[in-house]
Amino acid sequence: MSIQMVDLKGQYQKIKPEIDTALLSCAESANYIKGNEVKQFEDGLAKYLNTDHVISCGNGTDALQIALMALDLKPEDEVIVPAFTYVATAEAIALLKLKPVMVDVDSDTFNISIDSLEKAITPKTKAIVPVHLYGQSADMESIMMLADKYGIFVIEDNAQSLGAEYIFSNGTKKKTGTIGHIGCYSFFPTKNLGCFGDGGALSTNDSELAKRCQMIASHGQQKKYYHETIGCNSRLDTIQAGILNVKLKYLDEYIFARKKSAEYYFQNLDGLEGLVLPNKAAYANHTFNQFTLKVQNNNRDKLQAFLKEQGIPSIIYYPFPLYAQPAFKQFSPNGFQLENTEILCKSVLSIPMHTELTEEIQDKVIESIRNFN
Ligand SMILES: *Cc1c(COP(=O)(O)O)cnc(C)c1O
Repeated sequence: MSIQMVDLKGQYQKIKPEIDTALLSCAESANYIKGNEVKQFEDGLAKYLNTDHVISCGNGTDALQIALMALDLKPEDEVIVPAFTYVATAEAIALLKLKPVMVDVDSDTFNISIDSLEKAITPKTKAIVPVHLYGQSADMESIMMLADKYGIFVIEDNAQSLGAEYIFSNGTKKKTGTIGHIGCYSFFPTKNLGCFGDGGALSTNDSELAKRCQMIASHGQQKKYYHETIGCNSRLDTIQAGILNVKLKYLDEYIFARKKSAEYYFQNLDGLEGLVLPNKAAYANHTFNQFTLKVQNNNRDKLQAFLKEQGIPSIIYYPFPLYAQPAFKQFSPNGFQLENTEILCKSVLSIPMHTELTEEIQDKVIESIRNFN
């Protein structure tokens, strides 16, 4: 039995007839760009998210860029991001000549620290890009309170957490991505909803912003050959939309499978010395895109090597803080460090988590981790 971080083949095999029909239908229709499937997917996702507008695009990184372009910010305006995230979160900010301001995360939830966020707000702060990392919502109620107080836009980087929910203090729930001004999604194959290549989307309840995002993703035009603003070319292919239409129906099942596997890890890895299991925030409905351990006592790399010897894969998301990356050093003073981010980069380890996990596979992973201790 070979153990994988994700099992995309296994997931395909289960719905192969439906997917194959979608693939063939795209080949035969020859509507490779902006076929009916694209609109169908946008409508389907809007319904799933309970939001007014969904605009599809080429990938999650483009979604973040289009969102920022839609806000019409000025060079040097500041945009706050967590330092512990995938590079894409900050890339578009720098590309648009805005200033990424990196703040710390909470050591339990791995998500943006509200305290660190508030301290970083200046009169130049125009947007916050909270990330819902590993499948779990950031503390959106606190973020929106600060955003309202200071008049700041919120763009949610929901690449890893489609389908997750935030539970407000009054008990109401909203899907992540639909709470801020714009939500950004990725359909990279390993995300909660993955296509067979690259894909992305934006969501918003603001029709003006929706119009702008739509226009920017399409060369700044609403009418063909009539370019109102500088845009880009970012499209979800018809063939990917066809696949996503099939898989969207199974998204809640996929999330259920992830949660069930997470529970099995919780039951069987609980209480091990030097190992901290993921935290489930009371305000969040965690979808476990990743199951990420914190390995204490500087043992992370040793545990990873030990697991590798037994044929158990694991990945470090993320080995370096954003501010330590050569590309992003320019945005913070020399020697800049954030305490929790530093510790997490040295201690996190994500173990196999996907929709096709079985207890038999998990038992192997669990046994190997136990043997290390
Ligand atoms: C995957 C990811 C992205 C980018 O998505 P792509 O579709 O790969 O461009 C952005 N932010 C985070 C946090 C991600 O995990």
